[in-house]
This record gives sequence, C-alpha cells and structure tokens, in this order.
Amino acid sequence: MNSPTAVDHQTTDEVDSVNILIVDDEPKNLTVLESVLAEPGYRLIRATSGNEALLALMANVFAVLILDVRMPGMTGFELAKLIKERKKTARVPIIFLTAHYTEDEHWVEAYGTGAVGYLYKPVNPTVLRSKVAVFVELFRKTRALELTNSALLTEVAERRHAEAKLTELNALLDQRVIERTNALETSEAKLREAGRRKDEFLATLAHELRNPLAPVRNAAQILKFKNSSAPEVRWATEVIDRQIHAMSRLIDDLMDVSRINQGKIELRIERVDLVDVLQDALETTRPLIDEYGHKLVFVAPEQRLPLDADRTRLAQVLMNLLHNAAKYTDKGGCIDVIVREENGECVVTIKDTGIGIPSEHLATVFEMFSQVEAALSRSRGGLGIGLSLTRQLVEMHNGQVLARSGGPGKGSEFEVRLPLATPQLDGDEVASATDGEVRSNAKDAQLRILVADDNVDAAFTLAALLEVLGHSVRYVHDGEAAVQAALEFAPHVALLDIGMPKLSGYEACRRIRSLQSGVPMTMVAVTGWGQTDDLLASKSAGFNRHLVKPVDPEELFALLADIANQRSNSPNS
Ligand code: ADP
Repeated sequence: MNSPTAVDHQTTDEVDSVNILIVDDEPKNLTVLESVLAEPGYRLIRATSGNEALLALMANVFAVLILDVRMPGMTGFELAKLIKERKKTARVPIIFLTAHYTEDEHWVEAYGTGAVGYLYKPVNPTVLRSKVAVFVELFRKTRALELTNSALLTEVAERRHAEAKLTELNALLDQRVIERTNALETSEAKLREAGRRKDEFLATLAHELRNPLAPVRNAAQILKFKNSSAPEVRWATEVIDRQIHAMSRLIDDLMDVSRINQGKIELRIERVDLVDVLQDALETTRPLIDEYGHKLVFVAPEQRLPLDADRTRLAQVLMNLLHNAAKYTDKGGCIDVIVREENGECVVTIKDTGIGIPSEHLATVFEMFSQVEAALSRSRGGLGIGLSLTRQLVEMHNGQVLARSGGPGKGSEFEVRLPLATPQLDGDEVASATDGEVRSNAKDAQLRILVADDNVDAAFTLAALLEVLGHSVRYVHDGEAAVQAALEFAPHVALLDIGMPKLSGYEACRRIRSLQSGVPMTMVAVTGWGQTDDLLASKSAGFNRHLVKPVDPEELFALLADIANQRSNSPNS
C-alpha cells in the first residue's frame, strides 16, 4: 500500500497500472474500499482528510477519486470544489460515498461539484467496481491516446527537424556546387586563355622565324645560279639549301598546328586519286629515303581510289609518315607502303623496320609535343608536332590514323584510313598531279621588278636573285618609297611586303593602283600570313597575287614566267 504523499514514479511494468485516490476519515472504510477494489491494475492511494487528498493530487495523476462526503475539517463537497478549480485535476472523475446525505439536495450539490457518481454506504461492491472500472478504462484509453499523440508529435517534430537539417545541407551543397562550378569555370577560362595565347605565340613565332629564312633561301638560290666551280662552295650551297628546307618544314608544321588549334585551317577539297597524291609524297620524301639507304616497297591496286580531299594537306599527312619512317629507321632499313581498298575506305599502311615504339607510347605519339626519346638523348631532331598535325588533318578528312609496333627495335606501322568518294559518272575526273608544272624559264624574259621589304636582307637577296635571272630590279624598304619607286620605275611586277613602316603593303598597293598609268603592273603581296582572310585583304587592296614567305623560288619563277608570257602575247606590252 502506498503512503498518501508518495510521489508516483511509474516503472515500465507499472505503465498500465492506474492510480485511484480513496478519501475517508475512517481508516476502516478505506480498508473496506481497498478490499472491494483490489485489482491487479489498480494502485490505491489512501487519504484520511481533504488536505492529505490535495497533497496526493499534487503528487500523482489519478484515474478516479472516491470521496467520503462527511469528513471533519474539509467536507467531500468542499474538497471536490477545490479539485475542480485546479486545472491539473479539474477533469478527474469523482465518486462520492455517503451514509448520511441521502436527500435530493445532496445529490444536486454532489453533481453540482462535478461528481460523476453518488453512492450510499454501505457500498454495493459490484456497483462501485463497475463504476470505477468504467473510469479506469476511460483513463487508460485517454492515456494511451495521449501517449500515441505525444509519440506522433515527437515524430513530427523530429521529421521537421530532419527536414530543416536537410534543407540546410542542401543549401550548403548548392552553395558548394556553385562555388566549385565558378572555380572550375574560372580555371577553364584561364586554361582556354593560356591555350589561345600559346597558339597565338606559336603562330607569331613561326611567322617571325619565316622572315629571316626568306633572305637565306634567296642567297642560297643566288649561289646555286652562280654555279661556282669550287666544290666547297657547291657543297656549302647544298647544305644551306637542305637545312633551309628542313627548317621551313618545321616552321610550317608549327604554323599549321597553331592554325588548326585556332580553327583557321580550311581544306581545299577536290576530287583526287589517292595513289597520285601518295606518289607526290613519295617523290618528295625519296631523297631522304635514299640518303638513309632504305629499300622502298610500294604496293597499290590498279584501279583509281577517288577521294574528296585537300591534295596538299593529304600529301603533307603522307609525307609526315614517310619522313618519320625514314628518320626513325637506322640506315639500310626497309619501308613498305601498301595501299588497299576495304569497305568503302582506302587504307594506306606505312611500315618500317626501324626503332619501333614502346607499347606505352603508342597511344600518346599523336599528342602534340609527344616524343618517345627524352630531349637530351634525341638524335633524330623534330618538334614532336608532326603526328599531332597528321592526326588532326586526317580527322578533318573524316579519316583515322593509328600506330602499331611490336615494341623497341621491332619497327612501326602507321595506318591511315580515309573514306572513298563516290565515283563520278563521267569517269572520275581527277585533278592532275602535273597542275602547276614548271613553266617556261624566266631567264629569257626581262622584266622590271620592284621589291619592297623592310627586312633589308630579304629585299636585297630577292633583288639579287632576280637580277641573276636577268631581270631589272629596284628595291626599297618602306611603303612610301615603294609608291615613289613604282611611279618612277614603272615596274611590270611589284613584290610588296605587307608589314612595312610608313605605309603598309595594302596602303602602298592602293596608292600605286590609284596613281598608276601606262604599263599594266602585276602587284604581288609577299607576306608571312596566308589565310583566306589575308588573301581577301590583299585582293581588295588591289593585289593580283599573294605569295607566302619564305617564297618558294619555283613558284616565283613560274609566276614571273607567266607575266613575261602574258606581256609578250599582249599588244600593249
Ligand atoms: P618528331 O618526329 O618531330 O619528334 P612526330 O610528331 O612526327 O614528331 O612524332 C612523335 C614521336 O613519335 C617521335 O618523336 C618518335 O618518338 C615517335 N615516332 C613517330 N614515327 C615513328 C616511327 N616511324 N618509328 C618510331 N617512332 C616514331
């Protein structure tokens, strides 16, 4: 039995037990009530006065109160009033027990205090038990409902908390993503900018390297024409010629790579025959192959293999591969060039017996500046851009190039695949490889030629070369002098550099055109820049032709021969 003031610390086992407060000033009445209500789930708490009852009510929660009405001090009715006034206890059902107050008015007073039962003593145990049982059941259900409700509220609160946390984390994540994206975009922009600057630098470098090359090339040509009998001079001339050739090739590759990266290379597509182009490339590489003493085997099908391709660029691709095959094979090796047709494609295989490529390098040899040998031990020269250029050009032709090798010392094989063009109905008119064949020698046609270039050596050597050919030449070093000389000298041909002090080549050309009278003049722009835009600019300034530095002497001689021929056929000449 519990003491009336004991605080109710319910254990888990007691969760289902409910408190019932029994109040009577007669302890034996309380004992009777205890025996009537002795149920396992009931915890009866006794109080023998109103004050004890109030104390118990402060310390415990009760399912029902059973109050004696007549008690000394505070009556049951007074106690019930106080109980109903307190918020915490207002809803606790009260059953009055009385032996004395049997009148209707007592009933009224009892129910007026908020009682739910009014029983006479001696109490009928069954009636009391069943009344108490109803309120206990009600209490239990209410308590279970409250528990569920509070669990639900806790769950809702936890979910809200989790949701808030998630929203917070999401916002943090979004913020991080934004920050990372911004950082990535910034570094990407920086990389793009660095790449663009690198390409611009390569283009400028190549352009600047070409300038000094032009006079050296001219000087070498002069030496050739002078035909010295001294063997040392002949040998030195050949060395200079060969080295200029090699250097021009490197510079051209450098220029091409930067142009491709800047999207500035345009293909001049025409219908060509693969074997024709391959033979051109072989012809150009032949001296190197012979110099190394390599044996060349060339196998190609009889029929034409038409391609829609840029003849020059395709030849450049094949020349790069042949050049490498010769260069990376020790003297006396063997190079097989095999052409075949396969599933609508033509396949060129260039196979050598050279130094081979380690398998770990096969995938990277086509990347720019990739070279298998370390720079210091490299003995075969090169910038490591030829294969990168080759792949980019092949891909621009919708083709593929790949490398195979059995490893170091086991030779290499490069395979180029290009889509065959659909044959044309009129018998596949393929542009002839002999277009641009050497025309009549310019030596016997005298021309007056004006050379303008601010590079003094370039102007002087070109003038000297042209004089060796028998032309009458005047040379100047700026745009204004070019205009003046054009008026005084009335040349048949004016070769004008574009980037000159005082007046640019374009402006000089415009002025000469506006002032010119008498003999028709062929104006030729001679410049390091050879893109479509540059050609259009020189055309709109009034130039008839555009030559890219270093000017190929054969191209210049052919142009001069043409002009001389036109003059001799023209009645106004
Ligand atoms: P470069 O020859 O100027 O170094 P390339 O881009 O033409 O540059 O070639 C890249 C690298 O691939 C070369 O440095 C060389 O190591 C390797 N390579 C290319 N062709 C061959 C070949 N036929 N045999 C062996 N190695 C080759």
